[in-house]
This record gives sequence, C-alpha cells and structure tokens, in this order.
Amino acid sequence: MRLSRYFLPVLKETPSEAQIVSHRLMLRAGMIRQQAAGIYSWLPLGYKVLKKVEQIVHEEQQRAGHIPLLMPTLQSADLWRESGRYDDYGEEMLRITDRHGRDMLYGPTNEEMITDIFRSYVRSYKDLPLTLYHIQWKFRDEVRPRFGVMRGREFLMKDGYNFDLTVEDALHAYNRHLVSYIRTYERMGLQAIPMRADSGPIGGDDTHEFLVLADTGESEVFYDAAVTDIKLGKREIDYDSHEACHAVMEEFTSLYARTDETHDAALFEQVPEERRRVARGIEVGQIFFFGTKYSEVMGATVQGPDGKPTPVQMGSHGIGVSRLLGALIEANHDDKGIIWPEGVTPFHVGIVNLKQGDAEADGACEALYKSFEALGLEPLYDDRDERAGGKFATMDIIGLPWRITVGPRGLKNGVVEVTSRRTGESEELTPELAIAKIA
Ligand code: ATP
Ligand code: MG
Ligand code: MG
Ligand code: MG
Repeated sequence: MRLSRYFLPVLKETPSEAQIVSHRLMLRAGMIRQQAAGIYSWLPLGYKVLKKVEQIVHEEQQRAGHIPLLMPTLQSADLWRESGRYDDYGEEMLRITDRHGRDMLYGPTNEEMITDIFRSYVRSYKDLPLTLYHIQWKFRDEVRPRFGVMRGREFLMKDGYNFDLTVEDALHAYNRHLVSYIRTYERMGLQAIPMRADSGPIGGDDTHEFLVLADTGESEVFYDAAVTDIKLGKREIDYDSHEACHAVMEEFTSLYARTDETHDAALFEQVPEERRRVARGIEVGQIFFFGTKYSEVMGATVQGPDGKPTPVQMGSHGIGVSRLLGALIEANHDDKGIIWPEGVTPFHVGIVNLKQGDAEADGACEALYKSFEALGLEPLYDDRDERAGGKFATMDIIGLPWRITVGPRGLKNGVVEVTSRRTGESEELTPELAIAKIA
C-alpha cells in the first residue's frame, strides 16, 4: 500500500476522552472512530488488524475440529423465552420491536439460537460430537462502555458451542477449547492465563476465564507467579486425544489462579509467599461447561445408543475478538506508539522515503516495495512529500515491526537503514540484505 493513496487519519493530539493507552493509540493511529457510546467504525488500519486477529481465531478453531457457521445478529425473543433468559438477562439486552410488533433483540450471545439449530437437525448420538462456532457482532448495553473497544456495546466475539452425548465427552470439548485458546493467544504474541472464574448469566459450574495481565485490566486477579512460566510453545497437541488435552488443561490450571469472584484467601495462603501475586487482568476469553441447562428446556435431545432420548451435554466458549486489539496494544506499546507482534501486524514493513521526488530514492523504494510484494509480504510505503520527522512519527505510532529508511546519502554507499520497532536498533544493509532480514 502506498500511503499517499491510503486512508490513515493519524491524529497529532492525544484525544482527551481516552483514559487508557490502547484507546488513545487506536484513536491516534486512525484505527477506530466512535460513532455512539461504545459503538465504533473500524477505519482501514483497525479493520486490517481486526481481520488478522479474526483469521488466527478461525484457523485455530478449525485446527481443533470446530466448524464455522454464521448466525444473525438479530434474534427473536421467543427463543429466549423458551430458555427463560428473556426476563433474566436484564438491561444489558438491547430489545427491539419490529413493524409488526414482534419482540426482537440484538444478540448478546447465542446459546438459544445454536440449540435451536441443533435440535432442528440432529437426531442421533452418532452425529456427535459436534462443535459449531461463529465470529459475529454482539450487542450488550453495558452501563459504562469505556476504554474504547475493550468494553464496547457492539463488539466482535467468537462464540462456539459443543454438543456431546456424555459428560466425559463434553469435558473433553472443554479441555480442547482451553488448548485451542492458549494456542490462539500465543500465536498473537499474548500470554492469557486461564483462571478459575464465575459463570455469570451463561450458567454452569465449570468455567475458566483467560486473562491478559495489565494494570488497566478491569478484573482483579490472584495467582501463583509460576503460572506465567507455562507455555504451549510449538507442541503439537492431538485434539482428538482426551488424555493429551486433559494433560494440558491440568498443566495450565493446577497452580492457583483465580479472579476475584472465586478467590479463596485460605487456599491462596498455601502458595509460597514470594510467588503470590495480586494484579489486574483483561478478560479476553471464557469457556463454560453447563451440561443440559439449555438442552433440557429447549428439547435438544438425541437418540442414545440404548434408543432412549437423551438431552445433549453442552458448553459454550467465547473469545473477545475486538477486545483483543485493545489487550494487544496494552501489552505491546511504548511512549511513541504501538508495537505490533508479527502475527497480527497490519503491514509487515514500512518504507520511508527521505527524499520523495529524488529519482534514485524513489527508484530504490519502488524496487523494495515490489520485492516485498513478490515475497507475499505487505509493505506500507510512505511516499508522501513530507518531512522525515513526520514520516517517522507516523511509522512509530502505527507500530509496524520493521522500518526501512531510504535516502540519497545511504544509497551513495549502496545501503538503506533497517530499524526494529521493538528494540529501536538500526542497521545499514544493502537492499537485498534488508529484504532477507525482514522476510
Ligand atoms: P466482562 O466480564 O468483561 O463483561 P463477560 O464475562 O460478560 O465480559 P463473556 O460472556 O464471557 O463476557 O463473553 C466472551 C468474551 O467476549 C469475553 O471474555 C470478552 O473478551 C468479550 N467481551 C464481553 N463483553 C465485551 C464488551 N462489552 N466489549 C468487548 N468485548 C467483550
Ligand atoms: Mg459482561
Ligand atoms: Mg466476565
Ligand atoms: Mg466472561
């Protein structure tokens, strides 16, 4: 992309309404624009990162054997009356009446709808196990939408639902989700710690939240510092193996790690004092096992091996896709701007031309640009007729991992400058070596 043809409305001033750094930087980097409280437009740069995050979520869900579909944002109130949640859900639900006076709502989650789909088609235990998921906009009329996309009213969520015959199979689905979530966050360069939590309006007993440690997080968390040393890394986990997924679940959840709702002071005392941590975290996902809570009231039964109708065992599992952008920036920035991890960066490399209009500099930039494209990488070329300082500031704010600076002086010696956004270190290299370093 050439910056002169792009739409990147970078703000010079720090917007006063933004209280936390990720919100400030998303506004300043021209990623989002608020349209109403907690409702945002995703400007091109923000949209690009959102799509990258979404893509990683899709890939990891499908790697775990989960099947994508797409349900609508608007739902009929009748389904929610069947489960009893139309009245229970409260003021976070945005209720809408259509022209015929029918009660509708903007979905805050999809347990009822997916259960309805399931019961309409699946009859036999032979069709299980089944896990369906979608990535779709949700609406929750939060009392206090704040911190930008972290607590929006309209937000993008991945929500998945497992249907199993036995409790054991459903617990395997729970563990499988735990593993796939950790892999998802790690691919984005994020550490999200599974912590024992409270199930809230979704219901059920077994639940873990995934928390990214950050001072600006809204949850208070208590944990054993040793949990932060546990990583999945490059391990290949067989998602069909109950034992393998169970082992990872045990490994990640055996040490003390809880959110304030389930915190147990006496148990926490048993953690060696030097490892006890009280901190804040951002909830970027949650998994639930709730058994037959929805299947019984909504009649989602299959014929079991004994021929008898059996209500299916279910769980639901969510990732805050749009909130993840905020969490990623909270975890990856400095005083100059965002520092994107390679896995989610909107462009791989920024090319800064120090002397636009200089035939040699222009030519060298064009050649670099084409080489990166040929390698399947996306460069962002700042080809505007602007001063170097302004170009550097833009690149720093939007946080691409690499910057190549091209100017007549370096070119005389056959070199360009390659700078790492994360370390700030620069190196003079020939264009060929610069490409090799980044690719
Ligand atoms: P919170 O405790 O932050 O209100 P929640 O527990 O109500 O979140 P879940 O029902 O567990 O949310 O939804 C799954 C995921 O969706 C959450 O883990 C979170 O990452 C994301 N999410 C929930 N509410 C919002 C929101 N208002 N804005 C952005 N993301 C959200
Ligand atoms: Mg909530
Ligand atoms: Mg919560
Ligand atoms: Mg939650």
